Amino acid sequence: MLHLPIYLDNNSTTPMDPRVLEAMTPYFLNHFGNSASRNHPFGWAAEEAVDYAREQVAKLIGADPKEIIFTSGATEADNLGVKGVYEMYASKGNHIITATTEHKAVIDTCKHIEKLGGEVTYLQVEPDGLIDLVALEAAIKPNTILISIMYANNEIGTVMPMKEISAIARKHGVLVFTDGTQAVGKIPVDVNKDGIDLMAFTAHKMYGPKGVGALYVRRKNPRVKVTAQMDGGGHERGMRSGTLNVPGIVGFGKACELCMLEMESDAARTSKLRDKLQAALLQIEESYVNGSTEHRLPHVANISFKHVEGEGLLMGFNKNIALSSGSACTSASLEPSYVLKALGLGDDLAHSSLRFGLSRFTTEEEIDYTIKSITDTVLKLREMSPLWEMYKEGIDLDSIEWAAH
Ligand SMILES: *Cc1c(COP(=O)(O)O)cnc(C)c1O
Repeated sequence: MLHLPIYLDNNSTTPMDPRVLEAMTPYFLNHFGNSASRNHPFGWAAEEAVDYAREQVAKLIGADPKEIIFTSGATEADNLGVKGVYEMYASKGNHIITATTEHKAVIDTCKHIEKLGGEVTYLQVEPDGLIDLVALEAAIKPNTILISIMYANNEIGTVMPMKEISAIARKHGVLVFTDGTQAVGKIPVDVNKDGIDLMAFTAHKMYGPKGVGALYVRRKNPRVKVTAQMDGGGHERGMRSGTLNVPGIVGFGKACELCMLEMESDAARTSKLRDKLQAALLQIEESYVNGSTEHRLPHVANISFKHVEGEGLLMGFNKNIALSSGSACTSASLEPSYVLKALGLGDDLAHSSLRFGLSRFTTEEEIDYTIKSITDTVLKLREMSPLWEMYKEGIDLDSIEWAAH
């Protein structure tokens, strides 16, 4: 049975797996203790649950449990990782290298650091969304302390060459931070094989609850430290104070365990559905995939439909299909997606893009419905569009001077 609306906005958040909720429930009710309460069984039960979850989380990324700092999510972990390194390593230097396609939680953190007197290089990306490794190495200076490149992009799904990036960083004695939010739980991520020193990730993008995430901080080769951004009771080995979100952390742990067990089969299934969706939508005239199709998350596709307004497209079906667009209307800003523009897309293609993020729960029926609905909507909108008519008449739309408005 097909249930509407269909949810294909899984890069924004995923539904929680019912098995995760089941694991969490006792920690809201019977085991409600504060994991920092050392002198009674309520505290002990909570602490034991947190310890177990820390192991589950660490295992998924090949880390030691001591290297996991629980936070309120990836935004906080991005802030703690980047600002924490900037403060801790101030005597070594003040230069950070990142990329223009990073998540706002990293970009805006870097802007904040610039205001504090730090220096930041924002690397341009190639048209496929990948960074140029030669440009990366060339950007390293004697005062560079950190390279911050996301593992996988949230808008286009592009997967960065983390091993190559960290090899360059190591050669120059520079630390590597990565926003692993979209990658962890979806593709194999191993902090040792990938040479990552710090990594942010979050439960609610991998079938866990909202409001809980983690920062991985390497403890060996090299031993990395961050300056706390939240001061207080000294929780999380002094790096992040505040009573732990015990039920959330338990859920995060369970979500990691499930991803560990099911990642491979999830990826095989979603990539097949994604490929079917993509192939069918590319049958539509003047439609394009954004970002690398080779180095890409298995469940993501970002597609532009030329001469169709993204807003119109979404309105055409968004009661039945939940999706994001690179168009201004769906975000707080007025600009079309800065990620798509960084790939070199013009405003028209950026505005006409749709981001498809599939999940463990996406069905073939849903994909079939989506293919039909989007194809119909694009064709209908183009039928009504004067731009499309002009394009079909062979008029070069870029040569037209539009009246100011
Ligand atoms: C969702 C997301 C974030 C923010 O995570 P929260 O847990 O919601 O704070 C950060 N980075 C990337 C790449 C994301 O996709």
